[in-house]
Amino acid sequence: MHELSITRNIVAIVSEHAAGQRVTRVRLQIGQLSAIMPEAIRFCFDLCAAGTLAEGAKLEIDETPGRARCDACGEEVALTALVGRCPACGTGILRITAGEEMLIREIEMNTEEASCA
Ligand SMILES: [Zn+2]
Repeated sequence: MHELSITRNIVAIVSEHAAGQRVTRVRLQIGQLSAIMPEAIRFCFDLCAAGTLAEGAKLEIDETPGRARCDACGEEVALTALVGRCPACGTGILRITAGEEMLIREIEMNTEEASCA
């Protein structure tokens, strides 16, 4: 289950950014072609965040649909899987242009709580 190590990395990056402040919300962007299961990330997040600055943070995940451009005809097509020929011309090799990414889009921190300490 590679989502566990991915989630550990996410929590580590988030905690570093938080710099001692409590993290209240984390927003991720996960491409549908990235082979990362959002549900598995959700499942791992609470586990990995326990005892860190991200403990109890709300996790939001945006999924990016897969997109590709055809080598032969230049058509832009939607992709749900990594395999496939260009549906427009039937010959071209599809180059993926979106949907493989995994990004941390937003980290929201509770700055008030930190200043009261
Ligand atoms: Zn094509």
